[in-house]
Amino acid sequence: MRKVIIAGNWKMNKNISESIDLANGIQRSVYDVDSVEIVVCPPYTSLGDVREVIASTNVKMGAQDVYWEAEGAFTGEVSCGMLKSVGCEYVIIGHSERRQFFGETNETVNKKTKAALKNGLKPIVCVGEKLEERNAGKAFQVVKDHVENSLSGISKQDMLNVVIAYEPVWAIGTGVNATKEQAQEIHKYIRELLAKMFDPEVAKSIRIQYGGSVKPDNIAELISQPDVDGALVGGASLKVDSFVAIVKNCV
Ligand code: PEP
Repeated sequence: MRKVIIAGNWKMNKNISESIDLANGIQRSVYDVDSVEIVVCPPYTSLGDVREVIASTNVKMGAQDVYWEAEGAFTGEVSCGMLKSVGCEYVIIGHSERRQFFGETNETVNKKTKAALKNGLKPIVCVGEKLEERNAGKAFQVVKDHVENSLSGISKQDMLNVVIAYEPVWAIGTGVNATKEQAQEIHKYIRELLAKMFDPEVAKSIRIQYGGSVKPDNIAELISQPDVDGALVGGASLKVDSFVAIVKNCV
């Protein structure tokens, strides 16, 4: 019922020719995978070229951020319409690096998520606690705050197009992934929150990805958990072999 979704967040890596090579390597290796939804999220500068590479393949494309206004004097920003026109189906919103370095808040995540949905983009909304918050016993509280405030005011119908990425900040890029038990307990909690905010049927349909040091050798046990519906992958999405192995270990 919930199709596994593996998305690669390339972050600020890969120039245009490197992006073309990576996208080509991926699409050639996963052409026969139909049980997993596969998404690559290159930097803005490579979106147009990656679109050409993945046209007519089973690989989809997302952006790593978006601005909520449609157009105007917002130097450096990119709108939902622009992302649609370059071939994006998804957009990552509220990644912890945006929260940490670029002033992203639940309020801006909420505005971006609503704008994305209004414009037919599927948001991948990131939530997750920092190490000190987990150590202080506040992981559930932080995740609740992120989920409730990032997703407030969204209709049940629109929620069916939202993917949530639970990314504990302490696991991102550190090589220390959450255990399958740690991931499952937060994912289950998120689904319970969604059931209260929207309704149980909607909550059952929403995919919740895990993100944080996902590798070919840990994806299978993470994905075996009942509420883990895929992964948002950073470092391991930058090489064809590791990204493809992660996808294939979900089949
Ligand atoms: C990420 O940045 O979303 C991420 C999960 O990174 P990594 O896989 O490198 O931990």
